[in-house]
Amino acid sequence: MSELYDGFNRRIDYLRLSITDRCNLRCTYCMPEEGIEERPHGDILSYEELETFTTGAVGAGISKVRVTGGEPLVRKDAVDLIAMLAALPNLNDVSLTTNGVLLEEHAADLAKAGLARVNISIDSLDPAVYRKLTRWGRVDRALSGLRKALEVGLEPVKVNAVLLRGVNDDPSDFIKLTYDYPVHVRFIEHMPIGKSKAWSPEDFVSIGELKESLARYGKLEESAGPVGAGPATYLKFKEALGTVGFISPISRHFCDECNRLRLTPDGRLRVCLFSDEEMDVRPAIWQGEAAVKAVIAKALKTKPKEHATELQSFKRLMFQIGG
Ligand code: SAM
Ligand code: SF4
Repeated sequence: MSELYDGFNRRIDYLRLSITDRCNLRCTYCMPEEGIEERPHGDILSYEELETFTTGAVGAGISKVRVTGGEPLVRKDAVDLIAMLAALPNLNDVSLTTNGVLLEEHAADLAKAGLARVNISIDSLDPAVYRKLTRWGRVDRALSGLRKALEVGLEPVKVNAVLLRGVNDDPSDFIKLTYDYPVHVRFIEHMPIGKSKAWSPEDFVSIGELKESLARYGKLEESAGPVGAGPATYLKFKEALGTVGFISPISRHFCDECNRLRLTPDGRLRVCLFSDEEMDVRPAIWQGEAAVKAVIAKALKTKPKEHATELQSFKRLMFQIGG
């Protein structure tokens, strides 16, 4: 197995594949209400192109792939894509990040196709707050998706919640969820990448602030957390089935441990979430796996040591990168 390193000797073994920038929700911090301009069909990498890219990436040293979007399950035949990825030699960890709306319908087929596990984004368990935040979503659908994912063994199931002041900064419902189900709820700091609801320091809730409020809900224990913990750290309430996790891209950068690359739906390789530097890899895909390996090595030379701390405006928004 090859190993891949960047210019700062960080081992890179994780690829996030964003397969669409379309979505069936419009989370206020992520997407504009009117959605996005329809792209010509040929703009988006085909499944064959994604297969060539991923095969080259695995040959270069990638061993974990997460499929994301936009909402990956709105892309036609997403289950077939998962089956193709899961069948690639030396790729034994294929996971999915989804809003869960279509998960009840597809979870069994996804598990059969070889998907290992899912992360489900649910920013509030209160139906009215969830609807407002997603502009029209129904939290009961996301929760049915979560239950189905557990039933068919897409585990560990992680729930992602982006913290927004005055909206979902009371963690009590999420804590109850970890008592009721063996799920791992990860609180994520809001990042200044987005369109509709601009990031502001007043609305920002840090993980430190959230953690301080947790003690009043019961006795907390350290936890190693689930498989594929990434940059998250975890705690567990004593009698709970699941854990609570924390991801702090703003208050505690984890650039030192960064192990990832991202591919956008239109074939741009991004080496840092917080940088607009990107490389068009479609020509390499057309040449084949050896060219893909070469372009990944070239792109990695531009991966920065750490991301800037000051706020910037980015050319691409989160639904176009995949989070
Ligand atoms: N549609 C899928 C979903 O919502 O899980 C996958 C794509 S979504 C862009 C991936 C993750 O990015 C979600 O958990 C979402 O909450 C998160 N996200 C989007 N914008 C964000 C922001 N400005 N700060 C932090 N997380 C963000
Ligand atoms: Fe869609 Fe996910 Fe963005 Fe929400 S966070 S608008 S579900 S892509």
